[in-house]
Amino acid sequence: MRGTKRSIPEPDRRSSLATLPAVSRVQSCAAYRKLQRDVGSGLATDLLREEIARLRDEVTRGVLDRRSLRRAAAPATLVARARDKALSLLAPSPRLVINATGVIVHTNLGRSVLSERAAERVAEASRAYMDLEYDLERARRGSRGSHLDPLLERLFPDRACAVFNNNAAAILVALRALSRGREVVVSRGELVEIGGSFRIPEILAASGARLREVGTTNRTRIQDYEQALGSRTGMLLKVHTSNFRIVGFTEETPVAALAGLARKAGLPLVVDWGSGDLVDLAPLGIHDEIPVRRILDDGADLVTFSGDKLLGGPQAGIAVGRPELVTRLKRDPLARVCRVDRLQIAALHEVLAAYVRGRAFEEIPTLRMLALTPEEIGRRAEALRSGLARGRGGERLQVVDGVSRTGGGSSPVGERRTRLLAVEGAGGDAGEIEKALRTGDPPVLGRVHEGKLLLDLRTVLPSQDRVLAARLAAALREDALRR
Ligand SMILES: *Cc1c(COP(=O)(O)O)cnc(C)c1O
Repeated sequence: MRGTKRSIPEPDRRSSLATLPAVSRVQSCAAYRKLQRDVGSGLATDLLREEIARLRDEVTRGVLDRRSLRRAAAPATLVARARDKALSLLAPSPRLVINATGVIVHTNLGRSVLSERAAERVAEASRAYMDLEYDLERARRGSRGSHLDPLLERLFPDRACAVFNNNAAAILVALRALSRGREVVVSRGELVEIGGSFRIPEILAASGARLREVGTTNRTRIQDYEQALGSRTGMLLKVHTSNFRIVGFTEETPVAALAGLARKAGLPLVVDWGSGDLVDLAPLGIHDEIPVRRILDDGADLVTFSGDKLLGGPQAGIAVGRPELVTRLKRDPLARVCRVDRLQIAALHEVLAAYVRGRAFEEIPTLRMLALTPEEIGRRAEALRSGLARGRGGERLQVVDGVSRTGGGSSPVGERRTRLLAVEGAGGDAGEIEKALRTGDPPVLGRVHEGKLLLDLRTVLPSQDRVLAARLAAALREDALRR
């Protein structure tokens, strides 16, 4: 910048303002007309005006030197800046990213990826009318619930189900419908906050039910519940402490014991089972995720869970349990407020159908990712490494052992052994590479640990491997050039 970069002196600023082009003059250039065609004339005009106003402001405040002003005020530059702003405003958002964090149910990244079939159904269902609330046979009003009920009945025989916008909504409706104005007995150790915005005490307050905490943070026994029961009690609530675990001196009352107590007292036991998987994950070596079915068999009267966690579907909240309770949920005025939309229903139908067909592990990405072995992941990581080995910086890639987490409020200790692609930065620190990958297109997200960037292919869709390789090659090259 050679010391010529002095802001325009105060007395000259007025005359400098006069050098700013008129909006109409810029509008007559070809580049502007193209911008207008691409983004619409209203937006093009507004952005152009804003650009000129910004320059006027910078001149007045004295933050521009003459040369920068001349460059910035050129019609081509003004139009180019307006175009950049327009494109960034209009670009699709949320953006698609490559999740190489290894966290499968990543709440910040949208939790579950839909299966191909579910995704196609959503695309199709969004483009046409449908018999959403219409009975074609009888030519009269039908019900939204009718689409999912037959599949849910197969998955949960002898129980009824209601589907809401998300699990928080399912709990809210359940609390209100079954316990408004009454006490909800819940263990102090289960008054959890999930994802920074879901707090059981707040949902409880919003429902009009009253919280009756029992036990201590680390220990709650059946006697604690028993002593709290009285004429004001509306229900017993158990919450899956899905995103943390208190270890050491702890005691938690099992569902079966609570169910016995609830039955004796003639009160419903409602269980918020958070992640709510439908299949037994024990064959994968996962023993601490108890399927919803077992919670019901243990005697829970109503279980609620999310559609987009381990179930692997769209955002939704499913309440399953005794038919007379579910009917009360469906009749509550809040049920209408918390209802699912047609695209959620269309997606969830395909996902539930995969379970009914016994194809969940083949078709549902969340389960497929969970089932991947370290050997399978290692082979992909090795292929990626060897493909880049001879390129610039390729020698800084290594395939190492590590762990992936299931995440998203499923099991807190749900760690799976994996193989990681470890990337060393040219200067020893991988922070620059991490940033380059994260802020590029498409963004690639990994995690930095002990100075290395770790990429876990468990959560990278196989169809993304090639793009990931290209982004990584470019990032390594740029990182080497920076040194
Ligand atoms: C995730 C979770 C919720 C919230 O579910 P949403 O579907 O995000 O509304 C509630 N309770 C528990 C125990 C959870 O893990």
